[in-house]
Amino acid sequence: MPAPAVTRPAWDSQAAIYLHIPFCKTKCRYCSFNSHAGREEEIAGYLAALNTHIRRLAGHPWSRSHSFFSLYIGGGTPTICDPALLGQVIRNCLTAFSFCPEPEITVESNPNTLSPAKLQALRECGVNRLSIGVQSFSPAQLKSLGRSHTAEDAVLAFAMAREAGFANINLDLMYGLPGLTAEGWQQTLEQAVSLAPEHFSLYELMVEEKTPLAALVAGGKVRLPSEDEVADMEAVTSGLLAGRGYERYEISNYARPGFTCRHNINYWQNRSWLALGAGAVGSLSGMKVTNVADPLVYAQRMSSNQEPYSEMECLSRPAHFRETVIMGLRMLEGVSIRELEERFQLSPLTYYGDTLQALLAQGLVVLDDGFLRLSSQALPVANQVLAQLV
Ligand code: SF4
Repeated sequence: MPAPAVTRPAWDSQAAIYLHIPFCKTKCRYCSFNSHAGREEEIAGYLAALNTHIRRLAGHPWSRSHSFFSLYIGGGTPTICDPALLGQVIRNCLTAFSFCPEPEITVESNPNTLSPAKLQALRECGVNRLSIGVQSFSPAQLKSLGRSHTAEDAVLAFAMAREAGFANINLDLMYGLPGLTAEGWQQTLEQAVSLAPEHFSLYELMVEEKTPLAALVAGGKVRLPSEDEVADMEAVTSGLLAGRGYERYEISNYARPGFTCRHNINYWQNRSWLALGAGAVGSLSGMKVTNVADPLVYAQRMSSNQEPYSEMECLSRPAHFRETVIMGLRMLEGVSIRELEERFQLSPLTYYGDTLQALLAQGLVVLDDGFLRLSSQALPVANQVLAQLV
């Protein structure tokens, strides 16, 4: 007698795919991402390696037992690539893996790497979401960050994207920049809102070790805003965006109704995604897989039929559970206690015991209709609150 079919919940049978393009025109002063400037001659070979990786991973039993609802091409600057070659990678991916109907397909870009022809080529291969790294509309701020584009480039890029038919556009902006005031931030945000994108990712500038910015800060050549000034900028953000129809759904992300980012929600829910490309980190049912960071080494490994991984870590069930709680609390809806119990056979209420009770008593965490979430009072100090649940 055949075994009865086992129905797997959607969270166990669906996943996302991330492709990393580690090349940029220039290196921004604050950037610690795996991105390389001045290595454009490697791009074609690297994209060929990605195609090899796609073919290999698509045949893996894990991939064959999942369907995919999102493809996200990030960087670096993916739009630095020849659109025909990048389009081929995207098409290969969509053909090789089993995708759900109407997947979200996002490409990250920088304003001065877009053209009508490039945007049209992306639309033709199915890209339906564009993320533009604008960061600021202030010429002085863009210069201090070492960005290679101007505010005018950003406005033009946005107009070209609309003209090409992109109906789902995210703008990345940064606050807490050297010399930035709450008034200056409000001007940048007002200009961004006037373009009417569907989504905003708004991140505070972090000074990462070994970046040129870190050296400037350490040498006293650059002054960062104080904590109070940053808090004023955050107050400007929530006040301004809420009044213009954007809902905050994650600590740093805002969207118009219907335009939250499915790829990133999957990440914050700590579910599964495949990662292809140099330095990319995937998570397969709780196993973290990291690819070698250098694009040349990655390409060599692909062409010589070697594995691309530099590290694999299988999280214990409690470690995976804790990570899921912390990531999930970044979203304003919080985490579902029932879902956590279903996935991990652990309840946050018993697992965290007195620590969680204290956060509830202080009003920093709220238990509401089966969901645990950060209170509005906790959002400005989210990192300190989440650190107690690590
Ligand atoms: S464009 Fe992005 S990835 Fe490239 S150097 Fe600047 S911050 Fe880094």
